[in-house]
Amino acid sequence: MKKTILVSIFALLISFGAQAQKLGSLSESKTVEHPFNPLPYSYDALEKAIDSETMNIHYNKHFRGYYNNFLKAIEGTELQSKSLEEIFASVSKQSTAVRNNAGGYFNHDLFWQVMSPNGGGEPQGSLGKAIAESFGSFDNFKSAFEKAAATRFGSGWAWLAVDEQGKLFITSTPNQDNPLMDVAEKQGTPILGLDVWEHAYYLRYQNMRGSYIGKFWEVVNWPEVEKRFNALQ
Ligand code: MN
Repeated sequence: MKKTILVSIFALLISFGAQAQKLGSLSESKTVEHPFNPLPYSYDALEKAIDSETMNIHYNKHFRGYYNNFLKAIEGTELQSKSLEEIFASVSKQSTAVRNNAGGYFNHDLFWQVMSPNGGGEPQGSLGKAIAESFGSFDNFKSAFEKAAATRFGSGWAWLAVDEQGKLFITSTPNQDNPLMDVAEKQGTPILGLDVWEHAYYLRYQNMRGSYIGKFWEVVNWPEVEKRFNALQ
C-alpha cells in the first residue's frame, strides 16, 4: 500500500517536471512563423495589366528569393522571435541582408494581396471618402500616386500609407524599403504598394514605366485596401 502511494507520488512529480520543462522550452524558443502565402490568383489572372510570365518569375523567383534569404539572414539570431513590424521598427540597426530581404518579403506579400482580377474601379466607403478628403478627389490621388511611382529613381516602391493619426499619405521608398522602416522618410503603415523595379514590368513594357503604372489601376483590389485602412482607424 505504502509502496503504491510512493510510486504514485513519484509519477506525479515526473509528470509535473515534464510539464514545467515543456512550458520553459516554449517561452525560450518563441519563434515567429513567417508564411510563404500562395498567390491569390493564377499567373495569367492579371493579364490586362501584368503578363503571366512576369507574374510567374516575379512570384516564384524574386519573391521566393527574398523570403528564403530573409529566413537565412535571421537564422540563429534574436530576430527569430520578432515580428516583421518589430524588425522594421529598428531596421537601421540591422544588416543590409535583413533590411533588403525582410522588405522584399513583406512588400511583395502585400503587393499580391492588393491586386485582383476583379479589381479596378474606384474605392468606395470609408476609404473612398478618406481619399477624397485627403487628396481632393480620386483623380488627384491617382496623379499624385503615379508621380511618386514614376519619379522614384532606380528601383523602389510607391505607397499609399496611413500615419499614426490614421491619415492617408503617398510616399515612395528606394530598393526594398517601406514606410514601416525607421529609415523611411515618412513613416506609417502601407495599405497599397506598387513595385516599380524593372523586374516588375520590363518583359511587357520595357522602359515604359508610365504605361505599367497606368495599367495598375485596372487590377487594384480596393476592397482589400479598404479593409487594411479600416483596421488602422
Ligand atoms: Mn518585385
